Parts: sequence; C-alpha cells; structure tokens
Amino acid sequence: MSTAAKINILVSMLNYTRETFGWPIEDAEVRAALERAYCDGSWGVYDGPNCAALVGALREFFQCESALLCSSGTVGVELALRGCGVEAGDEVVLAGYDFPGNFRAIEAIGARPVLIDVVGDTWCLDAAMLEKIVCERIKAVIVSHLHGGLADMERIVDVARSQGWHVVEDACQQPGAKIGDSLVGTCGDAGVLSFGGSKLLTSGRGGAVLTSAPEICQRMKVFSERGNLAFPLSELQAAVLLPQLQKLVERNLVRSERVDYLRKQTAEYSEWLRPVAVCDGAEAAYYKFAWSFVPAESRPELRERLLAELHAAEVPIDAGFRGFAGRSVRRCEKPFALPVCHALSQSTLLLHHPVLLAQEKAAHQVAEALGQAVRQVVS
Ligand SMILES: *Cc1c(COP(=O)(O)O)cnc(C)c1O
Repeated sequence: MSTAAKINILVSMLNYTRETFGWPIEDAEVRAALERAYCDGSWGVYDGPNCAALVGALREFFQCESALLCSSGTVGVELALRGCGVEAGDEVVLAGYDFPGNFRAIEAIGARPVLIDVVGDTWCLDAAMLEKIVCERIKAVIVSHLHGGLADMERIVDVARSQGWHVVEDACQQPGAKIGDSLVGTCGDAGVLSFGGSKLLTSGRGGAVLTSAPEICQRMKVFSERGNLAFPLSELQAAVLLPQLQKLVERNLVRSERVDYLRKQTAEYSEWLRPVAVCDGAEAAYYKFAWSFVPAESRPELRERLLAELHAAEVPIDAGFRGFAGRSVRRCEKPFALPVCHALSQSTLLLHHPVLLAQEKAAHQVAEALGQAVRQVVS
C-alpha cells in the first residue's frame, strides 16, 4: 500500500478509534441494574430475584417452556446435546465451518462429529446434504446461524424428524433473529444462547439453553446439578442481562439498517466481495456481518494482505473461523467433500457488531476503507 493511500485511510478513520467501537457500550439501565443488585444484596447471594426474572423474561421473549441458565454458550451446546440424549459412541452432524467449541462439545461427550458442507451464501449447514447422509449412529444435528446468515430450519427439521434425529440450534450469534414467525433458537429441539463478552447480549460470560421438551430440560438439569450447580450463571450476570433483553429488538433493527447501508455501499465491489445473503421472509441479527473475499477462495494469501491493510486502518474486520475441513478422519466423519467450507475458511471477512450501533457515518467509513483496501489488493 502506498504511503499516500495509507494516510488517506488513516485520515478518514481519525474519529474512528477502538474506544468508539468498544464493547460493551454505555447503558444507564445496566448501570442502574448493577446499583440495584448492590443495594438489595443480590450481587452476593447464590439464589436471588435476578436469575428467576431472567428465566421468566427469556421464556416470555422466546415463547418456550424452559430456559436453563448456564455459564457459557460453549457449555450450553454440550448441555443441549446431553439433554437430547447424545451419549458416548453416538454421532452428531455439524457443519464443517462452525464455532470451534461445537466440535469440542461433541468430543466432550465422547460422541463423534460428522461433517457436512455449508451453503456459500449463508455460511450455514446445507440442508440438501443433510438429506443425503445415511448413518445409523447419528443422534443429533447442530445447526448454527452464523455471521448474519440463516440456516434453512424448516427443511433441516423435516429431515431430522424423518430420521429421528434431534436438532440443537446454536443461536449464539443471532438472538432475536426470526425465520418467518419463528424466533431463532426455538426452531429445533433445543436452542443455545451466549452471553459472552463480545455477544449482542452480554454479561461477560454466560449462556442459556431454551427448550419446550420437558425430558430435554430434565436431563440437562440432572447433568448440571452436582449438589450445587456445576455451570451456573450468577445473580449479578442476570441483573445486567435483563435491561439488554428489553432493548434487543430495537438494537437489532438499528444494526440491520446499518447492514443494509453497508450492502449498498459495497455493492460496487461485488466482483470481489460477496456479502452474506438476505434470506426471504427472515430477519437476521448481526453479531458479525460476513463477506467472502472472493479472490481469496483460491488464493488465501490475498485475504492476509487485505486484513493487514484493514488492521493498519483500524477497521474492525477480522478473519472468520478456520473450519474443520482439514481435521483428521481419526476425529470425525466426512461423508462428502467440503469444498464450500474450505473456500470460506480462506476467504471470510467478519465485521464486528459495535460499529453497527454507531452513527451511519461510521458504516460509511468502514465501506470506504474496505473498498480502498480491496482495490489495493486486487490491483
Ligand atoms: C460465541 C459462540 C458460541 C459460544 O459462546 P460462549 O458463551 O463464548 O462460550 C457458540 N457458538 C457460536 C456460533 C458462537 O458465536
């Protein structure tokens, strides 16, 4: 990159610092919730009003029978699988491009991952491939809604039902997203939320598993209860989540508008940047917003160059997951080739969400910087 181009980006980014896009953002209601938790002493007790209120609010929001609070989304996925009756020796289907912890959650149970490819436009598990799998030891499927893409839940749930498999829906990246009238996290047998430090609803750490199946809830409770809860969410965490849940829909709308704007602003680079698809009749939530940097699907070094340019300009865009396509067959089954997972593991660019709640100007600056960097790298 020429010095002039670099200065150009830096100048356009001057009011665009890490501080501006830090997370969590200032929130007077969160502050008030912390003060209340101090005053009523709930910050220092095992069981108080906040966890109970959060369970109630989640059940109400998601219209589900139960919400089991837990210590992270990562453990939430494992609990959901155990709740679905997955045991050592069973097999669990997951996408070859997914959050690394989901692969480990299957292994933690002693079960075996079965990898299938994703849809290139959505970054999500390919329902058509799921239909083709024949395997007697499969017990469940993990479906993650990633990077603003939404999986085809109707078809996935249909296939799973016909085979007698359970569906664990990983909604950690998209709380509040909807497919038709259904909230993501309620389409399968169990849905997982994360309240981790970078997520849309945050308490630093934490998670929850949603389900309307009493036997799934019961198995998760039995596994978690060791004379005391083994994977608890604290009263203080629950206290700060409550006001955030109330603002989720409104904030998702703002993020969504900014993403629409970014799509338009980067449309002129469509030869090189393919954004995650807009799904008909659905409302995605944007924890991350993805593009595939198309030239990098076959030449990974180009993404490294692009990211170096972007990081030099402090643009909050990073690489996506590494994916599991390269994992040894000792650790997993790969019934089919995984070309899309492989390509996306090399080409995915992810915009982190805090910028989406800033002024539209910030989205404009991101688009400008991204466009400049792309021109630089492909020229
Ligand atoms: C963040 C995340 C998780 C795990 O959440 P933690 O609470 O950080 O453990 C699981 N799945 C996906 C897709 C995620 O993005």
